[in-house]
Amino acid sequence: MDTRKQPLIGLDPTELAALFPDRKDAKMRGKQLAHHIYTRAETEFGNMLDLPKEFREHLEANFTISPLQVATHRKSIDKVEKLLVHNGDNQVYECVLLPYQDRVSCCISSQVGCPMGCTFCATGLGGFDRNLTAGEIVAQYLLLQSKSERRISHVVFMGMGEPMLNLKNIRKALTLMHDQVGLSYRHITISTVGLVPQIYDLAKDRLPIHLALSLHSPFDEVRDRLMPVNHKWPVKEVVRAMKDYQNTTGRKVTFEYLLIKGVNDTPEQARALIPLLSGMPNVINLIPFNWVDTGQGFARPERESVRAFRRILEQAGLNVTERVERGHDIAAACGQLAGQHKGKFARRSPSEELPLHS
Ligand code: SAH
Ligand code: SF4
Repeated sequence: MDTRKQPLIGLDPTELAALFPDRKDAKMRGKQLAHHIYTRAETEFGNMLDLPKEFREHLEANFTISPLQVATHRKSIDKVEKLLVHNGDNQVYECVLLPYQDRVSCCISSQVGCPMGCTFCATGLGGFDRNLTAGEIVAQYLLLQSKSERRISHVVFMGMGEPMLNLKNIRKALTLMHDQVGLSYRHITISTVGLVPQIYDLAKDRLPIHLALSLHSPFDEVRDRLMPVNHKWPVKEVVRAMKDYQNTTGRKVTFEYLLIKGVNDTPEQARALIPLLSGMPNVINLIPFNWVDTGQGFARPERESVRAFRRILEQAGLNVTERVERGHDIAAACGQLAGQHKGKFARRSPSEELPLHS
């Protein structure tokens, strides 16, 4: 890609049309371009054969479709594909294609790095560069779609960064994904560390977007240690905000629960989750810690403690799922999306590679 050329991904049909003020057919061309870019995930102007040749040449000379360049592309044995991308500079971010039997999902980034500083997360430990633009966010989806034989129907914002710190661009990206790409809001998940004002703010959009909170402990003293954001918005406040999101949007929320050996995997914490989450027909998703060298001595939980944790929650009637871990051999799991390219973090240690079974 020529970085001097303006990328078109990120613009809606009206904004695309506005790029060609001298053309009488600008409105129609804007719509056609949007169709090629978003619906067809087209990567070459030359393939847009319903556009006049002179217009294609004008586009070729002045614009590029996507701002993204692929630095590395790795495929795992279980068909997960991880792409490391950048825009011609050294600010890299990652997106992951996740094919399942019944659907294809993808995990995308909202920021280059993350300023939230969670102590178990490779992205957080690697620092923060900048917010991604709406175009860069949608471009990750389209890039993965161009690599996927099947349609990607689901998007999760669980890559690098905290989406709630970049809500303006996320909102624009969501609108493009819905209106232009044709994705259902119900198939889009935003995962947040728990920024309370932004949760209330997003609820006001009243869109059926799936919201997941990274809860990780019912106790403030434990959550404080894992996630500095908890000092500002403690457990009760953030759970209240999630309830508001659920009531306002009518969309069930979920809770992510990362399990770290001896830190937050105790029966006492499982029991404390029950009253905390009462009155919410939730799903709680257990995620075993993906090993990254955090300098804190964090380790993966014992299988038995995961089972016991799960049992306590299920006996109380909570819906529990366990994250199916995929892409091990290419380190495509959450919390590993960062750092490696900078050589900051070691790969997952071989002894930690066994997936947990329920
Ligand atoms: N910033 C958002 C979304 C990106 S992180 C958030 O924190 O929710 C996506 C998920 O990966 C979060 O639930 C996060 O807690 C989890 N995660 C981070 N580091 C991890 C690790 N080392 N092992 C397992 N999950 C991790
Ligand atoms: Fe940021 Fe999420 Fe990692 Fe925390 S877990 S540092 S919020 S990406």
